[in-house]
Amino acid sequence: MLIENSILSQFIFLIGEITLLFILGSIVFAILMVTLALISIKRGKIYFPSLIKAGVVLVEGLMKALFRLFGLEDQQVNSFFIELHNSMNKRAFEAVPVSDRAIFLPQCLRSSKCPAHLTPEGLKCKCCGLCMIGYWLPLLEKMGYRVFSVPGSSFIKRMVRKYRPKAIIGVGCMGEVKEGLEMSDKLGLISMGVVTLKEGCVETYLDWEMLLEIAKLGVDPGTIPPDLITLPKNNNT
Ligand code: SF4
Repeated sequence: MLIENSILSQFIFLIGEITLLFILGSIVFAILMVTLALISIKRGKIYFPSLIKAGVVLVEGLMKALFRLFGLEDQQVNSFFIELHNSMNKRAFEAVPVSDRAIFLPQCLRSSKCPAHLTPEGLKCKCCGLCMIGYWLPLLEKMGYRVFSVPGSSFIKRMVRKYRPKAIIGVGCMGEVKEGLEMSDKLGLISMGVVTLKEGCVETYLDWEMLLEIAKLGVDPGTIPPDLITLPKNNNT
């Protein structure tokens, strides 16, 4: 009986030691990943992206708590995660032909006086000139992209099921893009995110050149419409 009790207490002690080691290991790992991420943010270049991504998957909550401890806002952290995601997906994205890519724009980019109607495939832009969607959408389509202007993630899922793109560019506010990229990972899609310059649900802005920079990745320059080289003034609105 005494021997059994002693084995049991040794076992419990061992479990306690392993748990403690695991917790300490996680904290040390998270500190290392946050340090790497902070250096990357400061220098504007992502170091060891695969390692940081693994850190995000394994100890995301702990990393976020540490980021807060270092005085970083959630917005800054999310923006870094999106940049990290894009830099990790860049090579795979470049390898996908444009015909297998799609762009999802949020309908909040349109003018509040937009005359277009919502259809089962999103907003059908009439290129009325009241917002920049009417300028960019046809050009991106000329490049070979399927472009959708959609009100939410359920539309994106539906269009992905219907057209089966292999890679997508998702545009939206910070939270939407972060969720969208996570959703794409689950669906096995190669995704790139572009965050709008203004949060909100009406008449938001986008850095279209940033979108174009991503859209051009891996694309033969000869297939890019000349209009995309001569951009209009005030093209961010
Ligand atoms: S350009 Fe298209 S999306 Fe923009 S307001 Fe006109 S119809 Fe709507």
